[in-house]
Amino acid sequence: MGITAPRGTKDIFPEDTVKWQYLENLTKKIFSSYNYKEIRTPIFEETALFQRGIGETTDIVEKEMYTFEDKGGRSITLRPEGTASVVRAFLENKIYGQAQPTKYFYIGSMFRYERPQAGRYREFHQLGAEVLGADNPAIDAEIISLGIHLLEELGLKDLELHLNSVGCPKCRKVYREKLMEYFKPYLEDLCSDCQDRYERNPLRILDCKADRDKEFMSTAPKIYEELCEECETHFANVKKHLDLLGIDYILDANLVRGLDYYTKTAFEVIYKGLGAQDTIFGGGRYDGLAQEVGGKDIPGIGFAMGMERILLTIEEQGIELPIDDSIDLFITTIGERAEEEAFKYLAKLRKADLKVEMDYLGRSVKSQMKTADRNNANYSIILGEDELDKGVATIRNMKSGEQVEIKLENLVEEMTKRID
Ligand code: ATP
Ligand code: MG
Repeated sequence: MGITAPRGTKDIFPEDTVKWQYLENLTKKIFSSYNYKEIRTPIFEETALFQRGIGETTDIVEKEMYTFEDKGGRSITLRPEGTASVVRAFLENKIYGQAQPTKYFYIGSMFRYERPQAGRYREFHQLGAEVLGADNPAIDAEIISLGIHLLEELGLKDLELHLNSVGCPKCRKVYREKLMEYFKPYLEDLCSDCQDRYERNPLRILDCKADRDKEFMSTAPKIYEELCEECETHFANVKKHLDLLGIDYILDANLVRGLDYYTKTAFEVIYKGLGAQDTIFGGGRYDGLAQEVGGKDIPGIGFAMGMERILLTIEEQGIELPIDDSIDLFITTIGERAEEEAFKYLAKLRKADLKVEMDYLGRSVKSQMKTADRNNANYSIILGEDELDKGVATIRNMKSGEQVEIKLENLVEEMTKRID
């Protein structure tokens, strides 16, 4: 069939864009009540930002990035996630010089070269939140509750919050040794990826999908039981603040990110009904990230939520979003004079903020009425020679069938009255 959309991408048509708009508008509303402000960063960045900001040993950097050389010979990467860019923008523009903390949110497309399947695409959309310049555990609980608030407001049910602390470079070093010691006798039983990870990044063995159900996994040392005093206190406080909000969580020692700049709190919100790709959002603290991408020592925490997965969950749970895609009025016309008059009325009605439409294809009255139905019109009028001569028209309420005759010159007022 000629040219098609690239694998792993898709077009979004109006019957679905309304859902996206609903989600985006609700995000803006809820995030602003938590005082998070929108930031927009470039869709592409220098490749080095992601290599350092996500980490060379992660799946994203190892296998999933859309990287290319631009005409100027620079290595450029389409953003696979939002956090690295937000932190770069914060540092580059010296936002740390202003009063802290800084609370941002973003909404946009991300790009990862992955095998497309349900809930996994090559271009997908995330909405996310980041707080920079605060290491208070109350912020950790706030940002988790913000994500859950959005999902609950959409009507999502049966969500599970998984919570862990991955400590700091200090306590993780000790834990790492302990973990390597523990896995040593099982090396042969691990998948080949994990045998590879054993030296480079042993914590990641814990969240390996291929190995996670093996018996020796469940008795591996738990990082949240090996925290240093500072991390322990922080974690206890995060849990206390979640309790204050009445948010339940499941302690999940296998929820890890093995890199030095991920610190303390790690979390995921899961909806099991989604199958293999069941994480709706994930995030955590990254107190070492700002330094890693070349700047100051600034604490941070954030999450990213997959918007396609939210919409899949909405569908899966049979939730009807309160979306109104109706129009206020459809004008059916008979004859050229009526068509010209209607055309002028449309302009006036639209300037009065009404959603209105007419026929442009010279259809019969009957099929114009069908068009009115298809456009989900709340009211309709028929305009012909007779109506124009008498200066009147009949407004028909399409739902109730009720009809009222009005003066044509009052059409805008009469319609405005009905819509408000
Ligand atoms: P996964 O285990 O699904 O690969 P991840 O660890 O790569 O997730 P993050 O980088 O934490 O995911 O991204 C946050 C969220 O973005 C995910 O929880 C998911 O909802 C969504 N997401 C990630 N990758 C994709 C993708 N390729 N297609 C659609 N949504 C995605
Ligand atoms: Mg992934």
